[in-house]
Amino acid sequence: MKIRDILNTGEKSFSFEFFPPRQYNSILELGINIGQLLKLSPSFISVTYGAGGSTQDASFNLIDYINNKIGLVTMAHYTCVNATKEKVQRDLDFFEEKNIENLILLRGDPPKGGTKFIDNGGDFHFASDLIEFVARQNRFCIAAAGYPESHPESESPDKDVEYLKCKVDKGVDFVVTQLFFDNSYYFDFVNRTRKAGITVPIIPGIMPITNFKQIKKFTQMCGSKIPGDLVQKLEPYQEDLLKTYEIGVEFSINQCRELLEHGAPGLHFYTLNKSRATVDIFSSIK
Ligand code: FAD
Repeated sequence: MKIRDILNTGEKSFSFEFFPPRQYNSILELGINIGQLLKLSPSFISVTYGAGGSTQDASFNLIDYINNKIGLVTMAHYTCVNATKEKVQRDLDFFEEKNIENLILLRGDPPKGGTKFIDNGGDFHFASDLIEFVARQNRFCIAAAGYPESHPESESPDKDVEYLKCKVDKGVDFVVTQLFFDNSYYFDFVNRTRKAGITVPIIPGIMPITNFKQIKKFTQMCGSKIPGDLVQKLEPYQEDLLKTYEIGVEFSINQCRELLEHGAPGLHFYTLNKSRATVDIFSSIK
């Protein structure tokens, strides 16, 4: 099923993102957590690709398993960093053969350990090049990434929206955002995109806070900010995971409620392969 058809019904979509685990224990843990999240009947599941140094084969195997063995609607993440047209074509044929109908098409991050993106001269330089190549084939429902607080490399917020418009015009059906904690960035971003003529649904990306140090690291990497009052609440309990969990989950519940009440078309949870926080947040807002 194509995700654009789910979004076209006007029902809010709820989706969960996983990454392919590398260690045996993590594989077992992922199986258990997917089992817990399945009880929530998600609209779709997405699987990251090559992120944080994970292997591409592992991503393909996991998405194939979730799509064809578990039978859920899936969205494969796919990056074009340093890829050739021939490789991308082979991978698109694989997705079609496995009946994976939804792709989120991305440029990709610097390789693990690097902080700066270096273009090594593949056939695609920006996500928009990949989107154009895939959309022309008219086979997939296509999503793209959006950045309420602007992409870390972007020249300005206006330029960032201009480049998003370029992606959407090339054939994007919906946008999923980078994680953020201050909803005003999301609402402002949606307003700016609408003014720029972008009309597709923009699904907010939600990361439940369960570990303050980890969240600080993620936000430093992706350029999102943690609001000052939330930092003040979390900082004294850095070593107390239970208290952090309580504060983090309560925060996310309020964040999600406000987003849905003010028109967000759904929520996309960055689960980090865990289920407890997402289940608790989801159960409170559904
Ligand atoms: P682009 O849209 O190409 O933008 C990259 C930068 O170039 C931006 O600063 C943009 O403003 C600028 N730009 C765009 N077009 C032009 C142009 N024509 N001229 C000049 N500048 C331009 N990474 C992974 O490796 N694997 C994943 O699975 C993954 N999943 C993600 C899922 C979501 C929802 C999000 C938000 C991000 C994900 N990422 C993933 C991270 C993503 O790859 C990085 O954020 C990457 O740095 C940018 O990807 P993009 O697709 O937004 O790139």
